[in-house]
Amino acid sequence: MQRIGFIGLGIMGKPMALNLMEAGYEIIVLDKNKAAGDLTHKGAEAFSTCKEVAANSEIVITMLPDSPEVKEVVLGKDGVLDGIKPGSVFVDMSTISPSTAREIDAALKEKGVEALDAPVSGGQVGAEAGTLSIMVGGSQGAFDKVKPLFEVMGKSAVLIGDAGAGQMTKACNQMIVGMTIQAVAESFTLAKKAGVNLEKMREALLGGFAQSRILDLHGQRIIDRNFDPGFKIKLHRKDMNIALMAGKEFSVPLYGSALVASHMDAVLASDQGEKDHSALALLMEKLANL
Ligand code: NAD
Repeated sequence: MQRIGFIGLGIMGKPMALNLMEAGYEIIVLDKNKAAGDLTHKGAEAFSTCKEVAANSEIVITMLPDSPEVKEVVLGKDGVLDGIKPGSVFVDMSTISPSTAREIDAALKEKGVEALDAPVSGGQVGAEAGTLSIMVGGSQGAFDKVKPLFEVMGKSAVLIGDAGAGQMTKACNQMIVGMTIQAVAESFTLAKKAGVNLEKMREALLGGFAQSRILDLHGQRIIDRNFDPGFKIKLHRKDMNIALMAGKEFSVPLYGSALVASHMDAVLASDQGEKDHSALALLMEKLANL
């Protein structure tokens, strides 16, 4: 069985690595916090540098917060680039900027290593259930090598184009998710202030054209007042920035995304950045004096 290095064991990375272990892969882990413990107890091996993780693996996966962390882990001192063997595949499943994904791809190619940018959608629930949607940029050859792992972690994996295409797709995904949360938060706030029963409203809307996973899951979160992450709003704000930068690069006005990003800024400014992104509803309620 292939040896898989897994770096970044947070809300998403830990269950993804666990699913790979349960599917029989030998897993080598590293996280800068103590998160590796839960996996080593189940038989994973741990190393203290990314270089060692890469040197001992055929496929290296990262699931880190943002572009700077991925660059540090891959290109930094004792990083993946220093240890990875030619013929291996590097797979970054974090959400980062498309330009960083292309930079990492170019650096690894010089060492004879192929890279895939493979960000995911589906949240913590999808990571735990192995039902993520995986958006991939890179070569067909590298995709084919990693496909069996994608099949364990996700319910769909689509090769979209060259390096960076997965991340550009994910930025678009985050625009749609952010604007849909805004729509649900805004409509729930109006309904609440108008005295409409939110549970009944959610039930009715789920049967019609407004139906969405966000109305379903985040609508329920708003009703239950459950804003524990899930997906931290500060990470979604990071993704909106990736989208807005891309809009600037390609001269595409992104009015809805810009509004959602400003609302997220207001949530972050009130020290609620660690809350789930459905906490956008708290801001809408505050603005409505609820
Ligand atoms: P998280 O903050 O829970 O986990 C990140 C992990 O990376 C932490 O355990 C942290 O200790 C580790 N880490 C940070 N820097 C490191 C370094 N230099 N070396 C080793 N480990 C390091 O975040 P998450 O929610 O798991 O998200 C990870 C990525 O997945 C992000 O890019 C996020 O945007 C994306 N994502 C998250 C969700 C979600 O619902 N949580 C859904 C889809 C995509």
